[in-house]
Amino acid sequence: MANDRTPSDAPFLSIRGLRKTYGSSVAIDGVSLDIRQGEFMTFLGPSGSGKSTTLYIVAGFQDPSEGTVQLAGRSLLNVPPNQRNIGMVFQRYTLFPHLSVAENVAFPLRVRGWDNTRIAERVKAMLKLVHLDQHGDRKPGQLSGGQQQRVAIARALAYDPPVLLMDEPLSALDKQLREEIQFELKRIHHDTGITILYVTHDQEEALRLSDRIAVFNKGCIQQVGTGHELYEHPATRFVAGFIGHSNFLPVTLDARRGGLADVVLPDGRRLPGAPLRCDTAAGAQAALMLRPDRLALLSEACNDAPCIPVRVRDLSYLGDVMQVHLSTSWDQELDIRLPLRPGTTPPWQIGSTAHLSWDSAHSQVHAAA
Ligand code: ADP
Repeated sequence: MANDRTPSDAPFLSIRGLRKTYGSSVAIDGVSLDIRQGEFMTFLGPSGSGKSTTLYIVAGFQDPSEGTVQLAGRSLLNVPPNQRNIGMVFQRYTLFPHLSVAENVAFPLRVRGWDNTRIAERVKAMLKLVHLDQHGDRKPGQLSGGQQQRVAIARALAYDPPVLLMDEPLSALDKQLREEIQFELKRIHHDTGITILYVTHDQEEALRLSDRIAVFNKGCIQQVGTGHELYEHPATRFVAGFIGHSNFLPVTLDARRGGLADVVLPDGRRLPGAPLRCDTAAGAQAALMLRPDRLALLSEACNDAPCIPVRVRDLSYLGDVMQVHLSTSWDQELDIRLPLRPGTTPPWQIGSTAHLSWDSAHSQVHAAA
């Protein structure tokens, strides 16, 4: 199918100041987000952080306590769910078991009063889009979980909604199938140009699929950005810990200098010039974030970069990298990942002493936990 939608930078779906309370408990608190036409936007966050509540308000299954949702400049809030023209795919395949695959895809078109010829053409195109054109006569029970979810996607896209909402659609599938459908989903997004809002708690899935990711925590969006922006420039300690792996060393913030900080480690070592990502005052506790893949393990101490003595506690061979579990002189444990080159073996063994070093520019100072 040709992608005839033209992506634009103007907000297409605009979420403003959404708040939802259940009695005294607050599910979401001031969620605002603009989504561009044709964008693949993912809501990522831990369980209970407010992702589904936000999605269900957009779908119309729930009303917000406060706030607005606009699609192409028109408020959706008083529009019933079935008239919002929004496709939806849930975690569990919600196919009708007694209908064939083709009839499942045809269902929303029959509800909309399409004629049979148009329905047949559309069903054929949709099954082709999800690579199930040979399976139209089967019943859902005769398909694998991944195939059933592809039917659910075909059904949600059948009437050409401008927006598709997906709530953890792949979480019931095993890893291999999940990756296969992620790939399919990217292709379908590219081929149709549809705007997608996707909910997941799986950061790898979010990074793989999305144009941008909104990171949720405790009912709020902490940061919105591309996967690269979130990984390289996390705005908060939560985002730094949630996107990719991180080590956090406890430090005292000694001095602030523009966007940089001088910090002091628990062993008294002073490290100048680490990029600052919090408003912690001089003299207060903070956390120095170090990514496991941005650290070097040296046999000798170095003087031209931050460097601390460590002991090797464990080594895990992971094919392309060696994961090394270390402890510091103040007994803090941390992980690093060393790339492995064919034919070489790192000289480290459990119990080895070594020096951990990094480039200050690759560390970040965040708020203390
Ligand atoms: P997520 O999708 O990120 O897992 P949810 O949006 O489902 O999070 O939930 C956000 C918060 O709102 C949670 O604390 C949850 O317990 C609460 N919540 C969601 N739905 C209800 C409900 N119907 N009644 C009471 N609390 C709810």
